[in-house]
Amino acid sequence: MRGMVQSVSRRSFLVSTVAGAAAFHVPPRRRQRHPVAVSSPNGRRAVEIAVRKMLEGVPPVDAAVLGIEPVENDPQDTSVGYGGLPDADGVVTLDACVMDGRSGLAGAVAALRNIKNPSQVALKVMRHTDHVLLVGDGALRFAKMHGFREEELLTDRARREWLRWVESHSKDDDWVSPEENGAFGTEYVRQTGTIHVGAVDANGDCGGATSTSGLAFKIPGRVGDSPLLGCGNYVDNEVGVAGSTGRGEAVIVTNGAHRVVGYMRDGMLPTDACLAALRDVVRFTKSSRLLDDRGRPAFQVNFYAVRKDGALGAAALYPSRHARMTEAGPEVVASAALFD
Ligand code: ASP
Repeated sequence: MRGMVQSVSRRSFLVSTVAGAAAFHVPPRRRQRHPVAVSSPNGRRAVEIAVRKMLEGVPPVDAAVLGIEPVENDPQDTSVGYGGLPDADGVVTLDACVMDGRSGLAGAVAALRNIKNPSQVALKVMRHTDHVLLVGDGALRFAKMHGFREEELLTDRARREWLRWVESHSKDDDWVSPEENGAFGTEYVRQTGTIHVGAVDANGDCGGATSTSGLAFKIPGRVGDSPLLGCGNYVDNEVGVAGSTGRGEAVIVTNGAHRVVGYMRDGMLPTDACLAALRDVVRFTKSSRLLDDRGRPAFQVNFYAVRKDGALGAAALYPSRHARMTEAGPEVVASAALFD
């Protein structure tokens, strides 16, 4: 009770004394009692691991990366790490980003080949270099310097998916699928996916990590939102953490995760902040090739957010789910949706 009175009066003090800068409200500084984590729906196990690790005293950013590790190692998840879907040339390239709220430091890798745990390499970039982002061959050399083992990441399942795409994505080339030898086959629907984990420990320190194999069958060299700070992942230790999955290009042009954190800084609840950033995505989507017949974005974007005090939420353009771990245990629940 005493702490609450103190935090309210400190807040009013800030608002009343910082003239002109009082446009934002400092989120309540309620001391959080239990670590929490939020993730994309493929992160149910990840949030459990992240919270367990934070309870053992592991910093939130490391806990998020430890949560992501089994998903990166899982060949059945074709959106992340080992078994991820390749680029248009059949090469698996991975992107990841980590950010630590306490130090304000971040690390990222993009277009990394042959290393299945890019989020761990991103942690090394954060801790062992003065840089934030390493790409391509430089990222691979750096990972090998740190003892990461090179391996083929393209599984048979991902290779078959890629071949199916090669054979069916266009009527105007010489690749033909067996089905097409009758009539032109069904259009191949590209899968998307990524994992983001936002984590806040019992002290209110925040960390976030995002890892992906990126857009399936992308043009070689394409980098999405996941490894870009402020896009697929962002942390402000005074506010909270946010991240995204879905169409990276839409998140990059809006600096999505940074926007979500900004809205929380303005006093919005996490889910409302995610919805506000999604409205910005809609506002920025003008090209007709990106709109459906009702004028809405013809793609999906998800945002996930945790506030420093442990409040958490998620929202997507279209119905979707997210994983969360609070005192109530791990759950995968519906996110708020901007459209039906
Ligand atoms: N956001 C990822 C990217 O654009 C892909 C995804 O989440 O589906 O690379």
